[in-house]
Amino acid sequence: MRASGRRTLVTGGAGFLGSHLCDALIRRGDDVLCVDNFHTGTRDNIASLVGHPRFELLDHDVTVPLDVDVDRIFNLACPASPVHYQHDPVRTIRTCVHGAMNMLALAQRRRARILQASTSEVYGDPEVHPQPESYWGRVNPIGPRSCYNEGKRCAETLFFDYRRQYGLETKVVRIFNTYGPRMYVDDGRVVSNFIVQALRGDDVTLYGDGSQTRSFCYVDDLVEALLAAMESPAAFTGPVNVGNPAELSMRELAEHVLRASGSRSRIVHHPLPPDDPKVRRPDIDLARRALGWEPKVPLDEGLMKTIAYFRAHLAA
Ligand code: NAD
Ligand code: UDP
Repeated sequence: MRASGRRTLVTGGAGFLGSHLCDALIRRGDDVLCVDNFHTGTRDNIASLVGHPRFELLDHDVTVPLDVDVDRIFNLACPASPVHYQHDPVRTIRTCVHGAMNMLALAQRRRARILQASTSEVYGDPEVHPQPESYWGRVNPIGPRSCYNEGKRCAETLFFDYRRQYGLETKVVRIFNTYGPRMYVDDGRVVSNFIVQALRGDDVTLYGDGSQTRSFCYVDDLVEALLAAMESPAAFTGPVNVGNPAELSMRELAEHVLRASGSRSRIVHHPLPPDDPKVRRPDIDLARRALGWEPKVPLDEGLMKTIAYFRAHLAA
């Protein structure tokens, strides 16, 4: 049943990004159907929404077909941390590919608009820097990251083929590293690892020599971009990069986190994982022009909010 005019499905809605997106959609007035199998998501993330008259939760795996009445589909279901997506790589690629096919089939049946949460990983270890959408990437098809990178590339292909073949309204958004409250303590990604280690007084684990770079976007900015991309004109398909172009090395990030958290943890070096991209930074000209979007939250401010979240979370 609908309480509002628009019913929006968020797959992966109990995850880090998905739960913030559900919050924003409820604030906007949508009816929200959150679909998640709790592989990496948690009920805590959506605890404040459960019981809301316009929020519904469905425990469902997107690799299984689904038929529900919806107007919009945000397809976010997929583990995003390298530690988690490499734990069961066959399951990861199945989620990327079968999940995308099932959600596209649903969009086709319901004539719903559908957005795919793609990733900067489609560029692999890039030799073009920063990465524009026109760059086809440099991805190892047989390495430990491939289940995710190639799974996401295949999902993009499916989105464009469904559009060409069946005239679906599709959007592909390439998300660059995003951080913020509700990342998991054991997520394994760098921002949460460094903050949790710093707050606990544990060694901060810097992989390799720490010269590799990333560009970090605060979650609130990212959610704004997803909403803007979904509501962009029907002719706009993407792919469009969304992320914060402020680039820094992992050594700089570690020092930043130690300073901001007032921690006296030591930095220790661990081996660099295979195929770890050496540089990454989005070219966001297209997002600026087509979506009228750019990130607003500087790293200092976003890190302080994230540190405050983990401080409270670890104390609880
Ligand atoms: P996350 O791991 O916190 O969330 C993923 C959610 O998907 C979880 O709630 C998980 O339980 C759910 N899920 C996984 N497999 C599922 C399945 N088969 N059926 C139903 N639900 C399933 O990750 P996140 O950071 O919130 O990422 C969300 C999406 O954004 C992912 O598709 C990811 O690839 C993409 N993305 C995220 C980032 C980032 O920096 N956070 C960067 C690039 C792309
Ligand atoms: N990294 C690190 N220490 C950690 C976790 C990650 O130095 O405890 C590095 C990792 O090798 C990579 C960068 O931080 O170069 C970002 O890693 P993350 O897993 O967050 O995301 P990626 O961009 O690699 O998917």
